[in-house]
Amino acid sequence: MILSADRESNRVFAAVQNDGKTERYECIISVCPNPVCTCNVVSLDLLPERTQSQDPNWPHPRRVVIDLVEKRLSFKKGEKISKDDLDFARLFLSKLEEGNFNLLYERYLSLKNEFSESAAPGSIDANFEYHKIETDGLLVAYNDVLPYGDQMFVTIGGKQYAVLDQFCLQPHCPCEEMILTIMALDGAGKKAEEICAIALNYGKRQWGKVMAYSDFFFRRYD
Ligand SMILES: [Zn+2]
Ligand SMILES: [Zn+2]
Repeated sequence: MILSADRESNRVFAAVQNDGKTERYECIISVCPNPVCTCNVVSLDLLPERTQSQDPNWPHPRRVVIDLVEKRLSFKKGEKISKDDLDFARLFLSKLEEGNFNLLYERYLSLKNEFSESAAPGSIDANFEYHKIETDGLLVAYNDVLPYGDQMFVTIGGKQYAVLDQFCLQPHCPCEEMILTIMALDGAGKKAEEICAIALNYGKRQWGKVMAYSDFFFRRYD
């Protein structure tokens, strides 16, 4: 493991074996701020720990950009990078183990969540299926629009389930209805299986169980 996280300060450090010596850096992790972009890329700005700064051979700041899914370097096309820096980036990537990738992905998700939850609604460049929304009344889930946004969970009988909240987005539809799909989680905490769906009229504060999604469109709250 070349990366370690200080849980208290939330800082991440790297110890890289390079040319027979150990170089120590603090890693400043950043991600692209677009809440709907799922590039899975993190940038690491590596700042050498300053303790031996008099030494001319002491490591200098480095930057490594990694695609966490492809597990490869992901510098922007045309980005100027020296051969020495590229060699270092390759060395750094080659030293990352599974646990290091998991740590970086955790940070990626948490930073993307911050951008998603703080974005002004008008600034979100979401990609909607306009035709299906307008002609078929396709319902759209919050997490389909903001995949890194907060997720809802509910505990029923001591077991945790995910709640997928879906909304009607038809521009002139007066309905005040939404569907909450309750989903079982797999061992990794991911949504696995639909348990049931609940129709909620948030205007009237009434709810009922939905047997099939198609029934929802004929449902009356009287
Ligand atoms: Zn991105
Ligand atoms: Zn509607």
